[in-house]
Amino acid sequence: MVNKNDEFRLKITGYTSEGGGVGKFDGQAIFVENTAVGDEILCHIIKAKKTYAIGKAVKIIKSAKCRIEPECDAFKMCGGCSFAHIKYEEELKSKEQKVKDAFSRIGGLTPKFAPIIPSPDVSRYRNKAQYPVKRENGILNIGFYAKKSHRVIDGGDCLLQPAEFTEIIEIFRKWIHDNNITVYSETTQKGLLRHIYLRKAFATGEIMVCAVINGKTLPESESLLSLLKSVKGFKTLVININRDDTNVVLGNECLSIHGDGYITDILCGVKIKISPLSFYQVNRNGAELLYQKAAEYVAPTGDEDILDLYCGTGTIGLSMADKVKSVTGVEIIPEAIEDAKVNAEINGIKNARFICGDASKAAEELKAEGITPKTVILDPPRKGCAEDLLKTVAEISPEKIVYVSCDPATLARDCARLLNLGYEVKEVTPVDMFPRTSHVESVALLYRKERL
Ligand code: SAH
Repeated sequence: MVNKNDEFRLKITGYTSEGGGVGKFDGQAIFVENTAVGDEILCHIIKAKKTYAIGKAVKIIKSAKCRIEPECDAFKMCGGCSFAHIKYEEELKSKEQKVKDAFSRIGGLTPKFAPIIPSPDVSRYRNKAQYPVKRENGILNIGFYAKKSHRVIDGGDCLLQPAEFTEIIEIFRKWIHDNNITVYSETTQKGLLRHIYLRKAFATGEIMVCAVINGKTLPESESLLSLLKSVKGFKTLVININRDDTNVVLGNECLSIHGDGYITDILCGVKIKISPLSFYQVNRNGAELLYQKAAEYVAPTGDEDILDLYCGTGTIGLSMADKVKSVTGVEIIPEAIEDAKVNAEINGIKNARFICGDASKAAEELKAEGITPKTVILDPPRKGCAEDLLKTVAEISPEKIVYVSCDPATLARDCARLLNLGYEVKEVTPVDMFPRTSHVESVALLYRKERL
């Protein structure tokens, strides 16, 4: 057993699901952040538990071959990137392993895995950022939360975001300073500006700027606008009203101050309207590869009905609408459903319908209606699908289920549940939609086991 403050030489042999390094000492797992497989370090134990310990690399004795110098100065403080210090190929290998481990450990499953699909871009691939704004000891910080805290690290130029976002943050900094704009405090719940929320449509270059405020109107908005107009692609300025004492970034109400209040992207050849509250994949170029894989698994023949549950703005279903008989999308956020309907219209797609509601309830109603889709697409948030939804889907009895997931753990759990409901995993493809972070997307193809 190791104890707090012990120091010893340790070889890093694997990664945790959060992207930290792991080594073994005396048969015990030692977790050390910011290390790479192959590193030999001098490890100082900062926390010792019965079954594991947490260490810090006080010195790197021998550097792993896959190590690189992180290009970002904030890497060690910011909670965003786990893999900025290792080569991308190594990151991909660890993500493949993470998905396989989730299936075997959580799901008890060992399906066939296709090789991971890398992201087309490893830096500046994100099209969305929410920057907290905070004044600490009189100093204005706009940036990202430090690891496991609500302390804001002043942003600098985050290498996952488009360069224009950095430019916009500097504009806000000047505007706040010149106009004495107040900044929200979590302690007193006073002050106006809480977050700066930015989105960019990569295919068209359009940019949305959203000020999340503890108030109903934006003072000095004309002066902000005149500064923003110098940013290439700037399309619309909106405010989002959030007056609650909450960690949740966005409130429910948005108002446009300039422009239409939305931007338009093109994904898999389909125009997509993006409103502030609607979900949209953060890595557009990666999403095209993900959707292509999903379409390959759906393998449309032209005469099938498709049910797209958790459809957001309808992107997955609409991207294959011209190859199937019909698409029915279900989504809980009203704005996203409105966008989905507009998306069908602006693309001249007539065989898609969208229903606003909880996936479980809507699936139950569709089952009662007697819907018989050949394929059901599932793309839930990180917590995965509700158990009753999986049961309803199995009762609807599609031939195939194509499950898109941003969390391998809940995907594996749900695939195990689906196995009990008569569906077998045919193949899983990990897709790296989030380079440099520990997150990984996957798409799984499941087939109905033919009943006897
Ligand atoms: N398929 C879309 C969106 C996936 S994200 C795309 O690829 O862009 C998951 C979506 O599920 C979000 O839009 C979220 O609003 C929605 N959602 C969350 N809980 C839900 C529920 N209980 N019922 C239906 N939709 C839900």
